[in-house]
This record gives sequence, C-alpha cells and structure tokens, in this order.
Amino acid sequence: MSKIKELDKDLINKIAAGEVIERPASVVKELVENAIDAEATHISIEVIEGGKSLVKVSDNGSGIEKDDVVMSIQRHTTSKLNNLQDLFQITTLGFRGEALASIASIAKLEMITKTKENDVGVSITVENGIVLKQEYVSAKQGTMIAVSDLFYNVPARKKHLKGIAVEFNHIIDIITRYALIHPEMHFLLTHNGKTIINSPSTTDLLNNIITIYGRDLTKEFLAVNFANGDVEINGYIGKPNAARTDKEYQSLYINKRYIKNYVLNKAVYDGYGTFLFHGRHPIFILNITILPQKVDVNVHPSKSIVRVDKEYLIYEAIKKAVIDCLVEENLIPEVIESRPKEIDAKLILSSAGQFIEYQTAFTQAPSLLPLKQVLNIRLIGKIHNTFIIAEDEKGMLLIDQHAAHERVMYEKFLQECKDKHIHAQQLLTPIVLHVTPNERVIIEQNIELLQSTGFNLELFGNDSYLLRSLPSVFGRTQQKQLIYDVIDELNLGETVKIEEIKEERIARAACRSAVKAHDVLEFPEIYRILEELFQCENKFTCPHGRPAIIHYSLYELEKKFKRKE
Ligand code: ADP
Ligand code: MG
Repeated sequence: MSKIKELDKDLINKIAAGEVIERPASVVKELVENAIDAEATHISIEVIEGGKSLVKVSDNGSGIEKDDVVMSIQRHTTSKLNNLQDLFQITTLGFRGEALASIASIAKLEMITKTKENDVGVSITVENGIVLKQEYVSAKQGTMIAVSDLFYNVPARKKHLKGIAVEFNHIIDIITRYALIHPEMHFLLTHNGKTIINSPSTTDLLNNIITIYGRDLTKEFLAVNFANGDVEINGYIGKPNAARTDKEYQSLYINKRYIKNYVLNKAVYDGYGTFLFHGRHPIFILNITILPQKVDVNVHPSKSIVRVDKEYLIYEAIKKAVIDCLVEENLIPEVIESRPKEIDAKLILSSAGQFIEYQTAFTQAPSLLPLKQVLNIRLIGKIHNTFIIAEDEKGMLLIDQHAAHERVMYEKFLQECKDKHIHAQQLLTPIVLHVTPNERVIIEQNIELLQSTGFNLELFGNDSYLLRSLPSVFGRTQQKQLIYDVIDELNLGETVKIEEIKEERIARAACRSAVKAHDVLEFPEIYRILEELFQCENKFTCPHGRPAIIHYSLYELEKKFKRKE
C-alpha cells in the first residue's frame, strides 16, 4: 500500500508558519515589512499583552486591490516577484508570498484595505486560513491588519511563548531597527494603549536616531559616509569610549534590510581594532548599499540572514569606512569628571607629608624643550614611574608609559612583518622551552609563521623546543614568558584565517610580556617612545585597547579649578 500522500493546504501552511512565525514579533516584522514595501509614510503598531492577544498594524501605503484581497492571504501569492530573474535582484523586503498565509493559519486575522484607485475598501475576517466574512467598507487609503490570539490553534507553539515583557521586547527590537533606518517614515508603537516609540518623519537620519535613542547616546556618534564604486556605507558609529557591554545598539542593514551577518559585523569590530576596550561592543547603525543582484536574501524564511557576493570586499569596505571615520576624529579620550566631592576635599586637606610624597614621586624632565621633530607637545615629567606628563597647545596630556611603549613595539613589529623584514636577534645560548602536547601542536601548525616573524624554534626531544632567536623589537627580556604568551594567543586563533591577523596576535602577546620588564624608563627612552608613539597609526590606545593617552583640555582644567562654569 502506498504510504506517501500530499499534505493538505492547512497543514502545509502551519508547517510553513513554523518557520516564518516564531513569536508575536515575527508577526510584527512581516506586517511592518509589508507596510514598508507598500511605501507607507505612516505605520502604527498597536500591541496588546506582548502581542499574544493582539498585533494591529495600520499603514497609509498603497493598499491592496479589491480583487486581490482574498488572494493575498493564500500561500505563494505575491505582487513583488514576477519571474525567476526577479528572485536574483530583490528590491522589496518581502517576496516569498507566504507571510500572510502563515499568519492566517495560526491566528485570527482581520484586514481592511483600500487602494487609491478603488472607491471602496475591502474588509475580510479569516480563521484557520479560511475567509469567514468579506465585505466592502468605507476606508482610507492603506491597510490595517489585526492579528489576534496567536497560536490559538497550535497549542504546542503557544506553550513556548515567553512572558509578556520578553515578547514585547522582541517587538520593540524590530520596530527600533526599522524606525532607525527609515527617517522618512513615521512609526508609532503602542503597548496596551501606552506610546512606546514615536518617531515622526524627518529628513535627517541623526535627528531620527535621536528621537529613538535619545540625545545622551547619540552625542557620542560619528558620521560614516563611505563609497568605493561597488559599495556605499552610510550611518553612524559610536566613539570607542561609548562602546557597551552588550550588542543592543548594533544595527547593520543591506539596502535598508536589517540583517545578521557574522563576517560583516566583525568588519566593524576589526575597524575599531584596538580602539576598542576588551569585552566592549561598539555602537553602530550602518546601511550598506549594494546592487540587489549581489545579495541573496532567499536563504532563510525570515530573510534576515543573507548571503552576499564577494563578502570579503564588503568586509574590507566596512572595515575601511570605520577606520577612516575614527582616524579623522581626534580620538584622545577626554577626562570626564566623576570623582565624588568629598574625595576632592580630602585631597586638599591631606597632610604636608603626603604632599612631599607626591613631590618626590614626580620627576621633572631634564629639559623642558619641546620634543624633537615636529611634535606639538612638550614633555614635562613623569610620575610614579608610570605616567608621563606633557602639554600641547590645547591642554595637558597624561601618557601611560607602558601602554605607549606597547603601542610602539606593536606597530614596529607589524610594520616589519608587512615589509617582510624582521630584525631577529640570535640568542647566545638557546632557551629550552618545555611544551605540552597541545602547545606542540600549536607550534607545529604555526611553525612557518613563527619562523618568518623572527621566532626560530627547533624541536628538541619530544616535549621541548630550542628557541634560537626572537624579534629584536621585543628586546632581550622575558623571552620564555613571551613565547608562551604567543603560543597561547595562537591557540585562540581557530577562527583566524588571514595571516596578518595572526601576526597581530603574535605582536599583541609579545609586547604584553616584553614591556613588563621595563619598569623604570629613563628620559632619553621616554623621549624616544613619545616620538615613536606620535608616529603610530593609532597612538591613543595600547594594543589591548587600554588608553595610552588621556587629554585634559585647558577648559576641563579651568572648570575643575572653578575658573569656568
Ligand atoms: P510578500 O510580502 O512576500 O509578497 P505577504 O504574504 O507578506 O507576501 O503579502 C502578500 C501580498 O499582499 C504582498 O505581495 C502585497 O501585494 C500584499 N500586501 C500585504 N500587506 C500589504 C500592505 N500592508 N500594503 C499593501 N499590500 C500588502
Ligand atoms: Mg510580506
């Protein structure tokens, strides 16, 4: 007896709905995307109980032609795709023609819609994918779709819905993403009658972002406007010091479609590079404009995962856009006054003894001459063998000597790698390194890279290596620790493919342990480091992302001394 049979329509729709509609926020996403595709300028989203009982989206877009209304809720019916060719150059958010059919099969749906040309609107009531009622009604141009009782007929799915707050948060997230990138559209989101997002239409992207994120966050924004012929990147990124501990404020779009793409996201991080503190996540709202033929959106039913042609080129473009933007800015972190008042008072009242201590800890530079070359700074001294004090025409600079030294070594080493001209230093007596089996594997996997970057290692017995040379940039100290740190760093490199990135890792690990040995820096050395630091590509942070320079503007100092308000 034959066992294979065709599934009935309702079952097919419910299966499809399983992929498209996961929770109330998916309903919101599909309805809002339809409104955007219909070129609405006003989209209002009413939500009751996290969308579990009601999601109602009204727009003033094109509306649906009266004879198409019933058709629109059938599966695989769309006005956005005509032929196969269209599939490879999608310019609308929707195209699969399955959202309304899916929603109608797992919730109760009501729609009122009217086009400009039709003189009446159409209203339909749908349950289980079946049109129960259809009538002509008077209506304004646009579409209203109300979706109630989500999953009322699929209890297994309903059970998995989270609490109202969680479900509503997902909805806020969707509306925020679309509202951010569409300043020309007015979005109004209410929850149980309360206004949550209201972003009136504006011509200015930044103003639009301000109405959604508020002024505090956005004052740390930098504009990105990049184009290279193939791709355009526009939007805003946060200054490195505004980076967050979570990724909530990150939005990446391709042709204004909010997307999730690991590589492109990473491009932003890589653009920040060591400007970013470890464990921090940058803020960004970036739209990538490319030819629609270069993006395949037909990868996943929810259409937020996309495949991009020559992804590495887009990766490079994003990275460059971010770097250009950061370099253009003067990114020395300004000091923010955060010390509580009482501590200030204690400082002033501290004993004479303590003051002497401060004085002895301060060492004045032998000559107060400006640094050589064309540096616009003047070295004043150092304190606690840790911080260098200098001045420029705008105020005072505090420089962390270790961070500065690390930055200098790091960039020198990478430059030598780039030039393929590593100065390696031969050790008079080779150092024996005992390695674990895992470390041995890592060394073997990277042996060529290590050789080419100046680390000459030779297998010695079963569990040891002889270290015969190392890059001279890192000096002669702490050699053992240094190589272990490098191995550790290479061990984390499972996702790293590009050699240059591995070299960055080597450099970061090596200078971390090389710099420890240089506790007391003498002035000639400080002069040299500062001169080199100011020639570095990124002089403001150490390779691990800690600040190397903090700048107190004169204005900041005057404010502290109450000379200025
Ligand atoms: P898709 O968006 O993939 O085409 P949907 O199931 O979401 O599929 O919608 C089916 C069709 O219904 C759309 O192609 C469009 O013609 C019409 N439609 C849906 N929502 C709207 C709306 N808000 N305004 C105008 N037309 C709409
Ligand atoms: Mg759609």
